[in-house]
Amino acid sequence: MNIHEYQAKQLLAQYGVAVPLEIPARSLDEARSAAGKIFASGSAKVVVKSQIHAGGRGKGLFTSGFQGGVKVASSVEEAVSLAGKMLGNVLVTKQTGADGRRVQTLLIAEGAKIKKEFYLAVLLDRAVGRPLVMASTEGGMDIEEVARKTPGKIFKEWIDPAVGIQPFQARKIAAALGLKGDLFNAAARFVTGVFKTWWECDASLVEINPLCVVEAPDGRETVVALDAKISLDDNALYRHKDIQEMRDLNEEAPLEIEASKFNLNYIKLDGSIACLVNGAGLAMATMDIIQHFGGSPANFLDVGGGASKEQVTAAFKIILQDPHVKGILVNIFGGIMDCNVIATGIVAAVKETHLNIPLVVRLEGNNVVAGKKTLAESGLKLITGDSMADAAQKVVRAVAGNP
Ligand code: GDP
Ligand code: MN
Repeated sequence: MNIHEYQAKQLLAQYGVAVPLEIPARSLDEARSAAGKIFASGSAKVVVKSQIHAGGRGKGLFTSGFQGGVKVASSVEEAVSLAGKMLGNVLVTKQTGADGRRVQTLLIAEGAKIKKEFYLAVLLDRAVGRPLVMASTEGGMDIEEVARKTPGKIFKEWIDPAVGIQPFQARKIAAALGLKGDLFNAAARFVTGVFKTWWECDASLVEINPLCVVEAPDGRETVVALDAKISLDDNALYRHKDIQEMRDLNEEAPLEIEASKFNLNYIKLDGSIACLVNGAGLAMATMDIIQHFGGSPANFLDVGGGASKEQVTAAFKIILQDPHVKGILVNIFGGIMDCNVIATGIVAAVKETHLNIPLVVRLEGNNVVAGKKTLAESGLKLITGDSMADAAQKVVRAVAGNP
């Protein structure tokens, strides 16, 4: 699960990470009141930031033609005017895809005087099985580009999970950022807090880009997180009631939300052949083989090890809501799954949805004879496949219009 920048910063603040004074706003009235409070605190500027689950907002473009999802304002009126151009509008960034995302929440933050921008992230390095802290002096930019062009500018420190981040490691990272004196100490505390957030929240990624040295009105310099991204491990969410409440369904694909209600693991893709499969591994192999025979999968859909007739019907309905779907491949290997349950579900679903696109079914395993009999006696026009390769070729041909 992903959360918004303002929520990520709330979590970070709980672990002692310095964040700017900032207030989320969901309406123009809230934006006005938030901006008022921030100016009243002595800030000369406020920043109005679109909250969507995607980066690149600063350089993003609204479909209205308005440029920039992160803007600085010098007065309450200006902040409200900017808020009006963002709220309710669709922002397209490098990470959103062409459809963009509708902005429903803003973050009104104190405007910082930025002296330096850094990059800091904590993630799991699967290759060595350890948490990894990455830091770079090249902050505020696309880190993938830094990694490609100047990999030497990314500093890496691996953490022993048994003991957590050690003070000397936090200091090494602060030194790698070239900081001295009070800023060095502040950065070491900052890094420790970010690591603690990653660990305690069961995050898969905590990314601060930019982590900034900013100048306060009194001229003092401090380090703060001007942007934050946190991705959480769904498998650990049950331990974090407070984080679960941060889920924003507006940011999730409607079909994926619908699928999760039926315990179906569905991810929409761009192709034209829908797949309905039991087991994630088989689902991946099915997508591969469709591709191998020249087709392109419209989705990943794992109905799980023991799907019911209701789940299969729900799965068909979800698949068919995607207008790009031109054919369906059902690929079931019955282990725990009873093939006849699937067959009954398919027959019910085809009738209920008045299916009028090619459907190829490959059943194998537990109770397959009864399953095939159910399909054969249903009188439905469907194509059966004898093996995975056979079924994949048949669906690719059918979608191309030459069955
Ligand atoms: P992103 O584009 O989605 O990564 O959004 P960010 O929150 O990183 O904002 C984009 C850029 O806006 C940052 O890299 C900063 O350069 C700038 N920015 C963000 N907050 C402030 C601020 O408080 N003051 C100033 N002057 N610039 C800011
Ligand atoms: Mn950023």
